[in-house]
Amino acid sequence: MASDTPSTAEDVDARQDEAPESALDTARHQLNEAAAFIDVDPNVVTRLNYPAAVHEVTVPLKRDDGSVEMYQGFRAQHDSVRGPYKGGLRYHPGVTREECIGLGMWMTWKCAVMDLPFGGAKGGVVVDPKDLSDDEVERLTRRFTNELRNVIGPMTDIPAPDMGTGSEEMAWIMDAYSVQEAETTPGVVTGKPPVIGGSKGREEAPGRSVAIITREACEYYDFPLEETTVAVQGFGSVGANAARLLDDWGATIVAVSDVNGAAYDPDGVDTRAIPTHDEEPEAVTKYADETISNEDVLELDVDVLIPAAVGNVITENNVGDIQAALIVEGANGPITFAADSILAERGIPVIPDILANAGGVTVSYFEWLQDINRRAWSLDRVNDELEAEMVAAWNAVREEFEAHDATWRQGAYIVGLSRIADAHESRGLWP
Ligand code: GLU
Repeated sequence: MASDTPSTAEDVDARQDEAPESALDTARHQLNEAAAFIDVDPNVVTRLNYPAAVHEVTVPLKRDDGSVEMYQGFRAQHDSVRGPYKGGLRYHPGVTREECIGLGMWMTWKCAVMDLPFGGAKGGVVVDPKDLSDDEVERLTRRFTNELRNVIGPMTDIPAPDMGTGSEEMAWIMDAYSVQEAETTPGVVTGKPPVIGGSKGREEAPGRSVAIITREACEYYDFPLEETTVAVQGFGSVGANAARLLDDWGATIVAVSDVNGAAYDPDGVDTRAIPTHDEEPEAVTKYADETISNEDVLELDVDVLIPAAVGNVITENNVGDIQAALIVEGANGPITFAADSILAERGIPVIPDILANAGGVTVSYFEWLQDINRRAWSLDRVNDELEAEMVAAWNAVREEFEAHDATWRQGAYIVGLSRIADAHESRGLWP
């Protein structure tokens, strides 16, 4: 299963040539394009094109029927110049080594844009959790944690939820790690239930940050929220929380969707009446009077489009049909590099994932601080500090966007890359 996986940087390059639109390819394109804007040591950029390490493990799972199945798991650690590796673990059949590296690179920039003392990592297991019972997911998670035991740790690499994982998996990771270390170690993972050291507000944080950044972007482009129409693809944690907050703040949410399709109402759907993926999986269309397809949501004539489902949904094939005036990325990597360039040519601003959904990792940082200090914060404190961090990051990105006549993504990369490059140049390369 794992033996033919490439292990050298060149091998990764060779594999990339065969799959030009992978997350790694997009992440590298974006890095090298952004580097051209700033006076950065090219040797640092060369280093940042590669992960520091990619750990690959095989996870045996005893199924409920007694048979044993093997699963492939990864943890890609990209860069730790500013602090411990940080990033989610996803359970998805599409997880690959290259995807983990690309998503890990985005975590490096995301943490730097938010000025958090973390580097970037991402990992996951190649599995569709819908095919497993709850007990099987628990056994898989505990064994995966054990396989990564020497890789993760509260001062080295701190996982978090991502696609297909949530607070329950994080609780099992915390428990499995703590049992093995013979020491309760809440700081090894973030996104846990608050009762064992999780932060209040962590679950809603990525969606809340998407809503805050959408609000700032609407203000920048003179769209008063009360007169703004919004379409949201994806009704999981990110999409649902973003849609509900923007609804609360006066925007008209004309469509929300899941894999089965979208609830559509030009006068505004009731985002509180539609269950999120967590409340009732894949139920959006059951609660809708009028439905359209999940793909059609992307092509609605709205002020703001928020792709908040999965990666690579806006590609060369459908970018010509996008009618939104502004796009805010809720998912990680929803737009391919080629489609992003076409949107820039068409003058459609794209507020990037590494800024917009960075509330998740920001509240993860708050959670890690609470765990280390053994002291919980109130929800008000979490949300107030998140608001302040998001507005500060927005302003930092806006300054670069304006100063360089760049795209918003390039502005965000300039902020993040400058901080990372300064840290690399200051620390130097050893030996
Ligand atoms: N998986 C989330 C992300 O992509 C959160 C990562 C974290 O909190 O470490 O940003």
